[in-house]
Amino acid sequence: MYDLIIIGGGPAGITAGIYAARKKLNTLLISKDFVGQTGIAFGVENYTGFEEIRGLELMKKFKNHLEKFEIKINEFEEVEKIKKINNIFEVKTDEGEYFAKTIIITSGRNPRTLKVPGEKEFLGKGVSYCVTCDETMVEGKIAAVIGGGNVGLEAGLELTKFCKKIYIIEYASKVTGDEILQKEIESDKKINIIVDADVKEIKGKDFVKEIIYEDRKSKKINQLAVDGIFVEIGAVLSVDFAENLVELSDDGEIKINSRTCATKTDGLFAAGDVADIRDKQIIIACGEGAKSALSVYEYLKKIK
Ligand SMILES: Cc1cc2nc3c(=O)[nH]c(=O)nc-3n(C[C@H](O)[C@H](O)[C@H](O)COP(=O)(O)OP(=O)(O)OC[C@H]3O[C@@H](n4cnc5c(N)ncnc54)[C@H](O)[C@@H]3O)c2cc1C
Repeated sequence: MYDLIIIGGGPAGITAGIYAARKKLNTLLISKDFVGQTGIAFGVENYTGFEEIRGLELMKKFKNHLEKFEIKINEFEEVEKIKKINNIFEVKTDEGEYFAKTIIITSGRNPRTLKVPGEKEFLGKGVSYCVTCDETMVEGKIAAVIGGGNVGLEAGLELTKFCKKIYIIEYASKVTGDEILQKEIESDKKINIIVDADVKEIKGKDFVKEIIYEDRKSKKINQLAVDGIFVEIGAVLSVDFAENLVELSDDGEIKINSRTCATKTDGLFAAGDVADIRDKQIIIACGEGAKSALSVYEYLKKIK
């Protein structure tokens, strides 16, 4: 039986693994991959110590660092279910069953995609799912934010610091973000709101050049010249396997104690983007991963 099983090999899981190994906890890390969201980030410019680095390269460095320690790693394996029976956690994967005294869930999230032609092709070449990460890409240029919920409206406002013009493109007949944000957006001259817009395609050459959408009312196909597109239509979280062991926020994130990363179940912790922390960033996921492993260490000392 393991002291700890970590689910997920993104920045949070890897850092939790490093901290757990340094505390000499008998640890198993299970992950579908060591790519996570960071691996699809084109250029990371806000991780301390690296002025600019490709996301995948940063993930390779994280993984190499983890492998320096004594820790069992099961890669390409997916956790399907966790249960707690008599104070022991049972973790069922697509390959087998494992048992542990504690668990840290770091299964992250995936941005919801538009699933239109050009989206994949121009990822990192004008298409982004993270304004905080890629806002400098559109400095002095024209950007479109897809999605008029809170995140989309906040993204639009944030971009006013960088762009000369911003379109907020919403599928519904009105933007749905908080009224206070709507008022700010409406009074900002740089922002143009387009509603009833069904995005059909992203076009460009080496980089994004235009977005094609259908006006859902008139059925007219329109083209907008843009230099960057931020897709802000939500995220898909991977938490189903934990079912009633965790409490979820309205956004579907695992509720944690912000001091310890503990969930509602004793011995079960969560860290990184899967948890209800406000900011979703690599450096924060790493910090939360470290915090969760140290909490596990303290918890195990107590139950001995
Ligand atoms: C396109 C993009 C660009 C970004 N750019 C930046 C940036 O420039 N700077 C910045 O600070 N942040 C950036 N971010 C945000 C940053 O990537 C995330 O905050 C960070 O990766 C969160 O780390 P995590 O470990 O919590 O989760 P993730 O990175 O999502 O990792 C989760 C891991 O868990 C695994 N997993 C999921 N479910 C299971 C399961 N059932 N069984 C086993 N394994 C599972 C996944 O395969 C993955 O390896 C960006 C995000 C995106 C999407």
